[in-house]
Amino acid sequence: MKENFPIFANNPGLVYLDNAATTQKPQSVINSIVEYYSKFNANVHRGLYPLSDKSTQLYEEARQIVADFIKADTEEVIFVGGTTDGVNAIATGLSKSKLVRQNPIIITSEFEHHSNILPWQGINPSKIYYMKKVEDNVLEYFDNTKYQSNNESPDIITLSYVSNVTGTIFPIKDIANETNSKYKIIDAAQAIGHMPIDVKNLNIDFMVFSGHKMYGPTGIGVIYAKKEILEKMEPFRVGGGMINKVERDNATWASLPTKFEAGTPPISEAIALGEAIKFIKRVGFEYIQKHEQGLLKYLLIRLQEISEISIYHPMDVYASGVVSISIKGVHPHDLAQSLGNNSICVRAGHHCTQILHREILQIPASLRISLAVYNDHEDIDIFIFSLKKIINTFKK
Ligand code: PMP
Repeated sequence: MKENFPIFANNPGLVYLDNAATTQKPQSVINSIVEYYSKFNANVHRGLYPLSDKSTQLYEEARQIVADFIKADTEEVIFVGGTTDGVNAIATGLSKSKLVRQNPIIITSEFEHHSNILPWQGINPSKIYYMKKVEDNVLEYFDNTKYQSNNESPDIITLSYVSNVTGTIFPIKDIANETNSKYKIIDAAQAIGHMPIDVKNLNIDFMVFSGHKMYGPTGIGVIYAKKEILEKMEPFRVGGGMINKVERDNATWASLPTKFEAGTPPISEAIALGEAIKFIKRVGFEYIQKHEQGLLKYLLIRLQEISEISIYHPMDVYASGVVSISIKGVHPHDLAQSLGNNSICVRAGHHCTQILHREILQIPASLRISLAVYNDHEDIDIFIFSLKKIINTFKK
């Protein structure tokens, strides 16, 4: 599998276990970017010449590939810059369009990445409720009655599908079905490259994800939204390419999905995202899940060999290949830096989840190991061997 990813040939000895931050790119994805700029580069939608037609065709084909991948309609796929950009866009879009109350009630969780907290703080909510952990890092279900009794039905519930720290897979379908929230939003940043997702089956209103965490390029992400909501929603950004008619004091908008894609879109990035999806499909989720689950089990067994370790991962529950740890008496930054000196890439810090670290893990920072399809047992052996050695030096 590593042969498909040129980063490994170009960096002999690289042990890359920071896949929750970003994944490496297969040769086919890299080639598609080179090919696009070498053969087809022209702006989309506006040109009346063959090169622009071809560029537009490739860009729209990428949208179709994404739509098929998540079982959405093509008009329900909006290209944005990434997950952060997407959540910001949904928050401003809902607020600006007055599809939620002026001071909405929002439900999220203590597990969320800051990208799924700060945009909601920014639309003047009257209240943000944070769902709590109960046990095994599983979220407490939202108690409808508690809020309804105060006449407080929520406007928005917004949750991550998979935690970027603990790898917990949240029961979002059940939560979505049980809550009476007007809009249900899923941050699928850590799920999209690791498990099949069917947005219709989940019965959610919005979903966001980034291309770079699923073997695609940076600078591209996707908002999925139900068509009937997009039709009601005002564009979250305005400018070239997304209008029907512009008058001196007002304007009308193009049809979906163009209405939401002001300005020149990330064309080569969208095409390369399509290529990343083709890569995932070639490998198949059946293989990806089996492989990553096997490695995850092995990683958890090997981590337990280390004394004075705390492992932040739901051990007996089916979870994703993201594990955070802390070692008593050694700062995670020191560990990550020393591992880095041995070409082992893991991440230390709060991983943009200060509330999770403060309220649930009760530590300021942790060391995160995150897996992808190209990792193997040797990566884990090298990581554990070095980790043990480094801990010993720090403890001397
Ligand atoms: N949500 C989650 C769960 C994430 O893991 C990340 C990236 N760490 C983000 C949102 C933000 O993604 P991006 O930086 O690609 O916008």
